[in-house]
Amino acid sequence: TVRVRFAPSPTGFLHLGGLRTALYNYIFAKKHGGTFILRLEDTDQTRLVPGAAENIEDMLAWAGIPPDESPRRGGPAGPYLQSQRLELYAQAADALVRTGAAYPCFCSPQRLELLKKEALRNRQTPRYDNRCRNLSQQQVAQKLASDPKPAIRFRLDEEAPAFQDLVYGWTRHEVASVEGDPVVLKSDGFPTYHLACVVDDHHMGVSHVLRGSEWLVSTTKHLLLYRALGWPPPCFAHLPLLVNADGSKLSKRQGDLVLERLAAAGFLPDALLDMVTNCGSGFAENQMGRTLAELIAQFDLSRVTCHSALLDLEKLPEFNRLHLSRLVSSETQRRQLVEKLQALVEEAFGSQLRDTAVLDPAYVERVILLRQGHICRLQDLVSPSHSYLWTRPAVGRAQLGAISDKVDVIATRVLGLLEGRAASLTQDTLNAELRRLSEGLDGTKHSHVMKLLRVALSGQQVSRAGGRLCVGPFSSGSSAGAQLSFG
Ligand code: GLU
Repeated sequence: TVRVRFAPSPTGFLHLGGLRTALYNYIFAKKHGGTFILRLEDTDQTRLVPGAAENIEDMLAWAGIPPDESPRRGGPAGPYLQSQRLELYAQAADALVRTGAAYPCFCSPQRLELLKKEALRNRQTPRYDNRCRNLSQQQVAQKLASDPKPAIRFRLDEEAPAFQDLVYGWTRHEVASVEGDPVVLKSDGFPTYHLACVVDDHHMGVSHVLRGSEWLVSTTKHLLLYRALGWPPPCFAHLPLLVNADGSKLSKRQGDLVLERLAAAGFLPDALLDMVTNCGSGFAENQMGRTLAELIAQFDLSRVTCHSALLDLEKLPEFNRLHLSRLVSSETQRRQLVEKLQALVEEAFGSQLRDTAVLDPAYVERVILLRQGHICRLQDLVSPSHSYLWTRPAVGRAQLGAISDKVDVIATRVLGLLEGRAASLTQDTLNAELRRLSEGLDGTKHSHVMKLLRVALSGQQVSRAGGRLCVGPFSSGSSAGAQLSFG
């Protein structure tokens, strides 16, 4: 049975990179009727960010890919927080020491620091010199008397095994000569990543490890640990990195990648899932507008290639537009959008509403139906360019007079045209009637009549009828050029 896990460290809020790793795990699990586990790797207690653990689980649920087993949901292989599993790591470390695969290290932090400095001075990669490896039993016993809680190091002297990664193919990394023997259990009783990861993947019955390719090199150490512990290793599939459009690494400091912000800005879960899969591989072909169900149906791990995936955030509005239109076309979803928009309108305009009737569900729904396809986010409907839908535009006579000197005549005729038949006019018949009206006005261009009407009714100087409103993911729709950050 397939059991996969997403194992982030709660050192930051969930961002698009993490979402993508989680998503591939989720898809793989659902595709094979398996289980998707969320495990929080919080062993580096100095790097924890308050709220990150909650945020990660909240955002997975928001994105529609909730874990089957997790810190919050629990499950048969819990606890799902590494800081609550210290006993298991200590047991494994003990077992390793008993068989001689690991040994206690009494080197002081000062000595290790010195080794590091010296290496750096000689322009070498810092490497532990394995000094405690060959202490005799007697020496160990002596040292234990004054230092009862030494760190435990894993002996890396076996030849590195080659393994077949499901994405990268046959892989082999020389590890022993590079770093020296790694610490697997620190003197404070906390494990390091390698031991914790192996122990948990084993005890949690993980069948496939799908994780970012930055961990490919660590896999050799993990395999040696599995061997030393006498456990069968899982299958490994390393996912190529998600990088910025310019090829640079995604960084946790890029605020515009944080899911919570994207959600607050009105981006839809399906649009984000669609975008992070479209820029990578794993599907017969890439195509915008896929739902999660379609992603699951079309996914094929053997199609994941090792090319990095380029994240082009400029495309996010377009993804969102597609998914918003999809929601609009479903009656139940549309009802929810109406409620959301009502709330947005109240929040944005409150006491400035021109009439409480603009909050009528029927009116709000009509706005959505008319504007979908042109807007990218529901939020665009409360941006300045759409405020006329909800408030009375502040337009002065002088402003109108500057467009035409026949303001009164035009206004009277337009009102006459609408009188009693506003409800029966369609867009086409109204257009035709207005054209006729313009023709009846000597010396006034139709375009001027239309501009006058637009300015009078909307306060907008520029027509946007067919235009796409948003450019970058966070632009309000009123400015040109991408705005990738909040300001
Ligand atoms: N805690 C690691 C991370 O933050 C997980 C690596 C793994 O999946 O093994 O990415």
